[in-house]
Amino acid sequence: MKIIVIATNNDHKVREFESLFQNPNLCFKSLKDMQYTKEIIENGTTFEENAIIKATQVAKDLHLPVISDDSGLEVEALNNAPGIYSARYAGGHDDKENNALLIRNMKGKTNRNARYVCALCLCQENGEYKTVVESCRGKIIDEPRGENGFGYDPYFYVEEFKKTFAEISLEQKNTISHRAKAMRKLEEICDANFSFK
Ligand code: IMP
Repeated sequence: MKIIVIATNNDHKVREFESLFQNPNLCFKSLKDMQYTKEIIENGTTFEENAIIKATQVAKDLHLPVISDDSGLEVEALNNAPGIYSARYAGGHDDKENNALLIRNMKGKTNRNARYVCALCLCQENGEYKTVVESCRGKIIDEPRGENGFGYDPYFYVEEFKKTFAEISLEQKNTISHRAKAMRKLEEICDANFSFK
């Protein structure tokens, strides 16, 4: 069985990855599982650059293949903020505070268009890496709806389901989400064992 490390401390992301792949040949481990505590400075200027920084560093340290995810929300009326700063938009890593700031900044804005972006980087244990980037369009609503998901999901409304990402199931989210689309793209460039084709 091949071990692949998912370079994130976000349990929600790990769950989304696990639910996307039910391949008996693969075993996904989180950074917590690997007891990897080193802080990685994500000082890239794009989602893609940050994903590369994370995956290449962790693969080098653990000598294992690593998939990293750098993702976030871009809101048109806010000049694509919070963007790469999505996790710490309000200063800390607090979803409630990030959402409160987002809604405050959206006051009076009529353009509600937004998109989630996800960059994935797969770095093999020999250091070779590839990236994929995907997005998913939605609209920002003023009142939260639903309890599922994480981050900005209660405020992210998608036309496909006429619901927010927090109102739909993980299986439904996996049919349209930025992360699911990026994972499918990554699968296309890999064989069943996640080696590059
Ligand atoms: P990262 O872990 O540094 O990539 O930060 C990602 C941040 O973007 C999260 O903390 C969320 O605020 C936001 N985000 C990314 N993907 C999602 C999603 O699928 N739902 C809700 N928020 C998301």
